Amino acid sequence: MRVLVLSDIHGNLPALEEVLSNAGSFEATWCLGDLVGYGPNPNECIDRIRSLPEMRCVLGNHDAAALGLIDVDTFNTDARKALLWTQNQLTPKSKRFLESLPETVVSDAITLTHGSPRHPIWEYLIDERTATQNFEFFQTEYCLVGHTHLPVYFYLAEGKRQANVMLPKNGANLSLKPRMILNPGSVGQPRDRDPRASYAILDTKDRTWTVRRVEYSIGEVQEQMRLAGLPQRHIDRLEVGW
Ligand code: ZN
Repeated sequence: MRVLVLSDIHGNLPALEEVLSNAGSFEATWCLGDLVGYGPNPNECIDRIRSLPEMRCVLGNHDAAALGLIDVDTFNTDARKALLWTQNQLTPKSKRFLESLPETVVSDAITLTHGSPRHPIWEYLIDERTATQNFEFFQTEYCLVGHTHLPVYFYLAEGKRQANVMLPKNGANLSLKPRMILNPGSVGQPRDRDPRASYAILDTKDRTWTVRRVEYSIGEVQEQMRLAGLPQRHIDRLEVGW
């Protein structure tokens, strides 16, 4: 099965549409949370994601905050502003969808979660030490995460105690070997200094993982953010991929 793996769309519809037209055919869609927050199209992104085949999705920290499940004061000033704006925009239908999302899903013997298997909503998997600890918190061979907006993977070889962090090569097929934690990067707000939208294709039969980057109209989403009165810092950072 060919699975489209998306994370951290953050209300950026132009980026999502470009990813969908670049992805080719796929039989299932796995979404690792943060559909909303930062970007100007929260409802449109939710509707688009819901229209995709065999869609499984987990809850992100921005999704939870947009629902009022997390206090927005735990976010920095600009993120808080964007979240309050998002709370006002969400339709009852969008809210019901976000409310239905679980924190963790096991699909096709692969664990899906937003932050980490240990703390699904909040923990950032950015270093080997934290990743090593997290291998104890899921039972499957593979775990997919988002949240850091960085396309990376962590590999724990059999009999080894320490996980290694690796950077996938853009467009290259990575052969999966148990056990791994994989992050497809962010569709709507990449933070690895590459402003192109990031996503992954997982082939569950061949056991391969391919991270792809795709250009989209950053100017279009920036203009919509300006019109919506969203924070200037969020508008600017899209251009530099940070
Ligand atoms: Zn995010």
